Amino acid sequence: MQRQPLVIANWKMNGNRLLTSQLAAALREQAALLNDVDVVICPPAVLLPSWQQEVFYDAVHLGAQDANEHAAGAHTGEHSLQLVSEAGADYVLVGHSERRQLYGDSAVRIQAKVAAILTHAPQQLKVVLCVGEQEQERANGDTVKVIEGQLAEALANVSAAQLAHVVIAYEPVWAIGTGKTANPQQAQDVHAFIRNWLQQQYDAAAKTVPLLYGGSVKADSAPALFAETDIDGGLIGGASLEPEAFLAICRAAQARRS
Ligand code: PEP
Repeated sequence: MQRQPLVIANWKMNGNRLLTSQLAAALREQAALLNDVDVVICPPAVLLPSWQQEVFYDAVHLGAQDANEHAAGAHTGEHSLQLVSEAGADYVLVGHSERRQLYGDSAVRIQAKVAAILTHAPQQLKVVLCVGEQEQERANGDTVKVIEGQLAEALANVSAAQLAHVVIAYEPVWAIGTGKTANPQQAQDVHAFIRNWLQQQYDAAAKTVPLLYGGSVKADSAPALFAETDIDGGLIGGASLEPEAFLAICRAAQARRS
């Protein structure tokens, strides 16, 4: 089955209005590319309205890097799904390793966030669920066990119909922001495991789920990664802050269609 390539930019706590204009202009110049590749930009939440003003032809989608699982209330510093949705987001990252490690995103909270996102009304949002093993877990031969545990916990209450609104990003924690990329075979092996696991749980619905690789993807490493059968695109941190590099990564994803 041909899935549309997908590339997601995660700016983390970087970027500003100037970079918003610069990356948006670079993307606008490549409007044709955007017919072949779905591009999602996840800036810091306060930049979503600036992006909303820049977005064109509905070709670029916006995403939030996180959102709170509660609808409203006394949660100082947090953003609700309603707020990020109003600010233009139609994707929400969940379970990024930085949130798991630094900001208390436990398995229970991740499950609650996934449920809240998939039942959000009136606009249904998409979940980008991030999973990945630590360096020591890989060294111990536990990669698949860790990934399976994270998938099972996060998707415990997700139906086959809801799966159409889920993207999964495999991001080995040891590769995020470190300059160490998983080699294409390592990444493909885990992606194939995820695809098989989804198939066992969800049967045919599993075929539509985009599986992204993330972890120090750069313009030069993207082509070999995206040539792998089960890698539908990437979740891009550092390189998404450089318009030329990000566009080169999007072109590498476009090459999957040929
Ligand atoms: C990320 O933030 O999800 C990520 C993959 O970052 P980087 O590309 O910088 O490793």
